[in-house]
Amino acid sequence: MTVVLPDSGHTAERPSWDCRACGRPWPCDAAREGLRGEMDPVALAIYMWVNLEEAVRDLPPGPALELFERFIRWTR
Ligand SMILES: [Zn+2]
Repeated sequence: MTVVLPDSGHTAERPSWDCRACGRPWPCDAAREGLRGEMDPVALAIYMWVNLEEAVRDLPPGPALELFERFIRWTR
């Protein structure tokens, strides 16, 4: 598995929450893979909840389930 560290560029641009490196909605596949490699599942889930709360403030209102899938579901 390739570990993508935060300085690899696959980080969230704010307030759009698109990836700085590939332009896809963050966390993109590369970011997810990197975060999984760096953190244990509990720390990762907490980290992504924090990011989700930040994103909710930045992004226009949308389906909560969509954000849950995007930020949280893949950490399980
Ligand atoms: Zn990316």
